[in-house]
Amino acid sequence: MSEETEKTVLEELEEEAARWQEAFPHLRFDHMYYPNAGWPRLVWKLCERLERFAEKYDVLIHIMQVKEKFGTLRFYTGEITELDGSELSEDREDTRLIYERKCDIIEEIETASGYLCEKCESYAKRCRPNGFWIRTLCESCEGEAISN
Ligand SMILES: [Zn+2]
Repeated sequence: MSEETEKTVLEELEEEAARWQEAFPHLRFDHMYYPNAGWPRLVWKLCERLERFAEKYDVLIHIMQVKEKFGTLRFYTGEITELDGSELSEDREDTRLIYERKCDIIEEIETASGYLCEKCESYAKRCRPNGFWIRTLCESCEGEAISN
C-alpha cells in the first residue's frame, strides 16, 4: 500500500463514527466519535435499545460520556430533545416517562457489565490486577493485565 492512499487515524475514526451514527440515527455522540470504553458488544446492544426507544418516542438522545469506573460501564446521557434538537415540547405528557425509562435501559446494561470482562465479554469477576484499580476481567485478560 502506498503512503498516499493510506488513511490517517482521524479519517478511520471518522468513518467508524459515521457507521455508528448511521446505525443509531436517534442517538447523538456529542463529545466523542463513538462510545469506546470496553464491553463493545454490550455498548452496541445498549445503543440498539436506546435507538429503538428513541425512535418509538420520536426523540434524540444525546450521549455525553461513556467510560469504565470502578470496574463497570458508565454511560452518561445529556438532554433528550425533539428530533430537530430543540427542547422537548411542554405539551408532551411523556417527558418524565421518557427520562425514567431511559435510565432503566442504561441501568440494566451497566449492571450486566459488572459480570462480563470489559475486554472480551466472557464471564468475569472484579479484580485488582495491579493491586490498585478495580477492573472487571476474565481470568485470561486478568493474566494479560498483570503481565503488562
Ligand atoms: Zn477477558
